[in-house]
Amino acid sequence: MATVHRASPVRLGPLVLQPVSDGAILQMDPASIFKDARPEEWQPYVTRNAQGNVELALTCLLVRVGDRRILVDTGFGPRADRPEVGLLGDSLAAVGVSAADIDTVVISHAHGDHIGGAARGAGEAASPAFPSARYWLGRGDWDYFGQPERAAQMGLADKLLPLRSAERLDLADGEEEIAPGVRLLPLPGHTPGHMGVAFTAGQETAVYVGDLVHHPLQIEHPDWSPVFDALPPLSRETRRGLIERARRERSLVLSYHLPFPGVGRVDSGTWQGVAIL
Ligand SMILES: [Zn+2]
Repeated sequence: MATVHRASPVRLGPLVLQPVSDGAILQMDPASIFKDARPEEWQPYVTRNAQGNVELALTCLLVRVGDRRILVDTGFGPRADRPEVGLLGDSLAAVGVSAADIDTVVISHAHGDHIGGAARGAGEAASPAFPSARYWLGRGDWDYFGQPERAAQMGLADKLLPLRSAERLDLADGEEEIAPGVRLLPLPGHTPGHMGVAFTAGQETAVYVGDLVHHPLQIEHPDWSPVFDALPPLSRETRRGLIERARRERSLVLSYHLPFPGVGRVDSGTWQGVAIL
C-alpha cells in the first residue's frame, strides 16, 4: 500500500487551496527532462534514486470557495499494475471530500497522468468519475486529442471521449472565470491547449501551472523543454513569461510534478518551496 502524502491547505482570502496527491511517478529517465541541458548543468543538482531515475510528484489541487468544490487535474486514476499512482480518491477522502462533492473539474491538458482519473470504466460503460461535475479542457487540446483515432492511439478513448458523449465537457478558448477569483489561464506549449488556473484575492495571487515545469531547475532554466513538450518554442516562451510574472507579482506557485506538495515562489530566479506540511 503506497503512502498517501498529506499537506495543509493554503488560504488566499476566501479561497482554500488544498494539494491532493495522486501518488508519484517513480522511474523517470532524467534524460527525458533535461534533454536541452549539458550533463554538468543538471547532474549536480538533481536527486536520483538507486536506478538513476528521478521521481515526479502527481499533485492535483482541490479548491474550496463558498460552497464550490473545484478539482484541478485528476491524476492517473486507479491502476492495478501501478499501486504508486491512482491515490487521488484516498487523498480527497482524507480531507472529507467525495467524488460526488466536486462540481467542477479542470483538466490542465489531456495527458494520461492528468486526465486518467476523469472517467472510469471502459468502452460503452466508460463514464465521468465525478458524477456531479462539469469538466473544463482547453479547446486546443480537444482539437488535438479529441479526434477518435488519435484518442485511441493515445489511450484516451475511455477518458476524454466519455466526457464529451455525456455532455459534461466545456472547452475553454481563453481566460475564463469559473468561480469568484478563479480563472482558467491558457499556458500553451506543453500541449496545444495546456492551461493553468489563476487565483486572486485582493492583492494576493496564486497560480497553478500544471506541466509548465517538471523539475524545479526549469525555474532557473526556462529554456529547458522536456521531451514531453509538444511545441517546445512556444512552451519556452510561455514558461519564461509565467515565471517572470510570478516573480514580479510574488505569486504563490502551485505545481503538479515538483516535489510534494509542489507549492513555492520564484525568488532570485530560483524555486523556493514553501513548507505547508
Ligand atoms: Zn504531467
